[in-house]
Amino acid sequence: MTMRIYLDWNATAPMRGAAVEAIAEESRRWANPSSVHGEGRSAKGRLERARESLAAAFGTMPSQLIFTSGGTEALALALQGTMMPRILVSAVEHSAVLEAAPGAQILPVDSDGRLCLNALQDALKEGPALVALMHANNETGVLQPVEEVVDLVRACGGLTLVDAVQTAGKMRLPSADFVAISAHKIGGPPGAGMLVARCADQLEAVQKGGGQERGLRGGTENLPGIAGFAAAAEAYDMEWLAAAAKRHRRLEDAVKAAGGTIVGERAQRLQNVSMIRMPGVSAASQLMVLDLAGFALSSGSACSSGKVGASHVLAAMGMDAPAAGEAVRVSSGWLTEDEDVERFAEAWVRLAEQRRAA
Ligand code: PLP
Repeated sequence: MTMRIYLDWNATAPMRGAAVEAIAEESRRWANPSSVHGEGRSAKGRLERARESLAAAFGTMPSQLIFTSGGTEALALALQGTMMPRILVSAVEHSAVLEAAPGAQILPVDSDGRLCLNALQDALKEGPALVALMHANNETGVLQPVEEVVDLVRACGGLTLVDAVQTAGKMRLPSADFVAISAHKIGGPPGAGMLVARCADQLEAVQKGGGQERGLRGGTENLPGIAGFAAAAEAYDMEWLAAAAKRHRRLEDAVKAAGGTIVGERAQRLQNVSMIRMPGVSAASQLMVLDLAGFALSSGSACSSGKVGASHVLAAMGMDAPAAGEAVRVSSGWLTEDEDVERFAEAWVRLAEQRRAA
């Protein structure tokens, strides 16, 4: 059997041992944190300790954290729960944003995928709005000027929501009014996440129910998931990112030498992501050959679509459909080794040469 090499970390990351243990430990208990008996009070205590631990890991306050079922729900809570008259979103947002705010005004990005600040400034002239912008794009890794945007939006009385699902644990949390984070990208379990709500007074529950999370998110808390999330955040370190940057630079050099291109190359990007294009060869065909050769990777947003389709992100960056359909995403993580990326680069270059010769 071929040794598999996992290069799809932006879709999901392997769970950390500490998270698995914390989930197992919590799963052996079963009290509801809202119950008033001793077991319930003890569960409530563990819930609040997880909240404190996550707040410390992300440099925020426990009272600002609202647990959700993941990044998607955290984004929906801010988008649908704030009472702003208008919503502005960038054209490269994750579908979790675009689908949750169907009436939003879409702001353009430049050819590197960065928000056009002039367009934002023009839109803000019409009055305050909730502005949703991702910290880093899940497909290209391109970083957005979130702090500049926070300042611009604040100056006109608006609110900002930053989708930090791909940067949490890799970069300092943005100072936005709302920040969405997902557990499964940092080594926690899928199905857990949170909204950092620095302006919780501007928020109303979207998922109503038993008044949990200070009335802002109804539903019994997923305590095993939250315990796993907290354990993953405690275990997280950023040291691997420097090695990841070097690996991806070598990969991108090899891709360019073989006639490929790098999407968003001129922009500042996350160190662990390269979106690479092989002219003349469809992403679907690259993924199939590379999968058979032992490499797990995606084109575009596997975490939201599960299909190989056209990317709205690349279209927004001005790539035509045939070119966009030739790009695949390589994303690595803390368990990735130099050799994994080197072997991938060799396989990709071999495929590019074969297709050129055919
Ligand atoms: N935002 C971004 C940028 C993502 O990459 C994802 C992908 O999973 C999400 C939001 C959705 O997060 P979740 O899977 O926790 O719902």
